[in-house]
Amino acid sequence: MAAKRWIAETLFDDLGFRMMLEAERVLYETQTQHQHLVLFEHKFFGKVLMLDGAIQVTTKDEFIYHEMMTHVPILAHGNAREVLIIGGGDCGIAEEVLKHKSVRRLTQVEIDASVVEFSKQHFPQFTRPVLGNSRFDLIIDDGMNYVARTDRRFDAIIVDSTDPQGPGKVLFSERFYRACKGCLAAGGVLVTQNGVPIVQSGELVSSIRKFRKLFADGSCYVAAIPTYVGGHMAMGWASDNPRLRRMPLATISARYRRAGSFATKYWTPEVHVAAFALPRFIAEQVAKA
Ligand code: SAM
Repeated sequence: MAAKRWIAETLFDDLGFRMMLEAERVLYETQTQHQHLVLFEHKFFGKVLMLDGAIQVTTKDEFIYHEMMTHVPILAHGNAREVLIIGGGDCGIAEEVLKHKSVRRLTQVEIDASVVEFSKQHFPQFTRPVLGNSRFDLIIDDGMNYVARTDRRFDAIIVDSTDPQGPGKVLFSERFYRACKGCLAAGGVLVTQNGVPIVQSGELVSSIRKFRKLFADGSCYVAAIPTYVGGHMAMGWASDNPRLRRMPLATISARYRRAGSFATKYWTPEVHVAAFALPRFIAEQVAKA
């Protein structure tokens, strides 16, 4: 029997370490117009999607990132009707957003149609509840183009992007954040995939510095995602309403009840509030931004 292939995450080669996963079966591998894509089965993490040598999503731990990138901004806002996702090709975040019946319209702008295409086959648990939902529309475009041109206004913008390399690089630029601010409704909130501070501190500090030039409030919240190696992952936070980040537990709990207390596996009102209590080394990075 042929030896199984070990697949490396090469994102941290410059730091001299790699996470390696033994593939039970490689389900799909190709160079798309925008990036290298490999999807494989892993005996513990289930299906694993990698883009340009970086793990994007696994069926084992996807719920942590998808719930925290979605329920925190939407329940902190409290009245989000129009929501925009930039990236998010696997539709895992869209599936969580549509749990909020108060959201009237969800628009997703993804640069790479093939990520959505193959997610239909391999991540039906995400795509089925989303594609065809009357509240959802998918646009294949570079997120930078969309936010620079749209005349729509959003209550929450969720940037579920790849890392600041290749097509994802522009999504960490001041130009992009400025355009996002331009299409946020008054009191709206922007959240961003912002890396793992202990290994990607420069990325977080740089984003927060840009947020603070543009918004009244710029910071982050955290969650630990096993396959985003390195401990806490940071989710960038920007809004002109500084109160959103400090919503009391009672308010978040009441909003969750009003939203129908839909099922979650990681997010709770307590975890929501606690996620903004940053460990000192991250708080110091944020403070110096
Ligand atoms: N959760 C993952 C992470 O944290 O690394 C991200 C998952 S999601 C699959 C990332 C998506 O961002 C990919 O589908 C990729 O094609 C998309 N993307 C990258 N650059 C983009 C851009 N400039 N505009 C829109 N989508 C982009």
